[in-house]
Formats: sequence, structure tokens, C-alpha cells
Amino acid sequence: MEATVLLISCPQFAYDWIERYRPGIALTINAASVEDAIAAVERHQPHVVVFQGNDAIAPDFTERLSQFDFFTLVLEQFPSLSPLAQQQRQLYWTQQKADAYLAFGSDLETTPETAQLTEQLLSAYIQKGIQRSSAYRDLQHTNDLLSTIALSDQLTQLGNRRALDWELSRQLKNARRYKTDFSLIMLDVDYFKAVNDTHGHLVGDRVLQLLAARLRDRLRLPDSIFRYGGEEFAILLQKTNLEAAAVVAERLRQIIEAQPFPIYQDLVLPLTVSLGLATLRGSDDDKGQSLIGRADANLLKAKAAGRNCTISE
Ligand code: GH3
Ligand code: MG
Ligand code: MG
Repeated sequence: MEATVLLISCPQFAYDWIERYRPGIALTINAASVEDAIAAVERHQPHVVVFQGNDAIAPDFTERLSQFDFFTLVLEQFPSLSPLAQQQRQLYWTQQKADAYLAFGSDLETTPETAQLTEQLLSAYIQKGIQRSSAYRDLQHTNDLLSTIALSDQLTQLGNRRALDWELSRQLKNARRYKTDFSLIMLDVDYFKAVNDTHGHLVGDRVLQLLAARLRDRLRLPDSIFRYGGEEFAILLQKTNLEAAAVVAERLRQIIEAQPFPIYQDLVLPLTVSLGLATLRGSDDDKGQSLIGRADANLLKAKAAGRNCTISE
């Protein structure tokens, strides 16, 4: 991936200083406001932002930049600057959360040695910034990958039990905050052990994959499904009261019953499921354990009632 460096400065500043450092400078913008500058970094996602510190842009810009994953280098040019004043500026910008700071004097009083050192320092900061933000982005990418692996069920590609725990408490919090209904379905395949016993475990696995895909594809947009374990699934229904949840559950039951599952050319397996429903009560815990418990109890009742049916509370 190509490293990008974004320079935010007035045109004269860009011309004077950054044009000397052509390699790596991908883009220059002359932002008129903090909002312009933030919009530019959001659009270009640079590795390094070089920011002309004594621009008219408010100093809280660097503070806002520090939320992003790139390196911020502040440059300031002064006609003349004592070492003490330079240190004060450096302290100021470090407190503003800039990652690095560089000051330089006017052309008139700058010796060739100083100018060369400044350019070398500028170059070193930009290289360091590119390396640091690239390493951070790689790490972020690996983290995302690991989270996906940790939260998804390998066989069905649905969210797993850990993902359910996380998502259920998140959705319950929202339901309580916005005072909306919330319901949950527990769904279990009927006589699934017989599928394994008759056709083998691999066919059982295939059935679970097809069943999961069919359920997921037929859910309404805001609803989500997780593999709770074995041949049991949990379905979260946001903004849904018990009556509406019963309609969803019954529809899912019929979708499974209506069409047998094609495994091979000469093996098509009919399947049914039983479902238990529960809807959120004020007395339920925040993690949703009591809600799951009630839905599970109703699922057991559906099994006891002969299977291939839905029981609400
Ligand atoms: P019921 O109608 O009462 O739910 O009966 P059942 O046979 O579906 O339930 P039981 O709990 O007796 O058996 C569930 C079976 O599901 C047993 C277990 O080996 C099987 N199972 C669980 N996970 C998997 C899996 O990932 N792949 C396969 N092939 N089978 C699995
Ligand atoms: Mg079962
Ligand atoms: Mg089961």
C-alpha cells in the first residue's frame, strides 16, 4: 500500500517548504477551517498529516486529529525564534497532542547547515510517521480479523454464542433507553440426532449450514440470528412485541417445514423446528439471561407439545 502524506497549509508555506520534500507528499490542501481539514483527512485517510501550526486553523485541530490513526507533524516558521521560545512552542504543540513538532527560521538567518538539518529532520519524522501508522493499521486489520474469527461460528458462518452475549446486551440497552419492545426466539431442530445417526455427521453438518442460511436469508432486516450451540439458534427481534414475534416465529417454522433440504442429488431431507418465544420485561437482567431462560422454557414446552410448533409466553 502506498503511504500518503497530507499537508495542510497555506499555499505559500507549501511552496516554500514542502515542495522541497517531494517524495511522499501526496496531497496539499489549504483548509479554511477545522471542519475543512477534518473532512480532508477523513476523505484521504493519510498516514501522516503535516500541519502548518501557525495557520488560522484553531489549535484544537491537532487534538481532534489524535482520534485518528495517523501521525501528526506540526511545522512552524518564524522570522526569528530564540531557543527558549522554540521549546515553549514545542511544549504547546505536544500538549495539543501533536506527535512531532518542528520549527524553522526565515531564509535570511538560516545557514545552509541548519536548512539541511531541518530537511533531514522533516524527512525522518515523515518516515517515522509512515512506519508507525502503517504498523498501527496492520495491527488494526489483524485485530478485526481475529474479532471476526472469535465471534463467528465456523460451520454456519453465523455469530456464535460469544457474539450473541455481546449483541444481546447491546440491543437490550437500546431497547431500554428508547423504551422499545424487544423479543427473542429460541429455535431447535427436531429429532436432529436421527439425521446424524441415519446419514452421518457430515450430512448433519450440511443440514445445519443449509438451515442457517435459509433462516438468515429470510429474516427481516433488523433481526439477527446466532448459533446458540449444537442445533439450536437464537433470533433477536428489535422493536418487536410478543404478538409480532409470534408471527415471525411461525413464518420461520413454515419456511423450514415447507421445503425439504437437498443434500445430494438423491438425498433430500425434510426437517422441522420447534420455537420458544419470550419478550423483554422490566424485571429481566441487562445481559438477557432471564429472557433467554424463558424462551428456552417455552422451547421445551414446544418439544413436549409434539414439536414443529411455536410456544409464546
Ligand atoms: P429434539 O427434537 O428433542 O431436539 O431432538 P434432537 O435429536 O434434535 O436433540 P438431541 O439433543 O437429542 O440431539 C441433538 C444432536 O445434535 C446431538 C448432536 O450430536 C447433534 N449436533 C450438535 N452439534 C452438531 C454439529 O455441529 N454437527 C452435527 N452433525 N451434529 C451436531
Ligand atoms: Mg433438537
Ligand atoms: Mg438441542
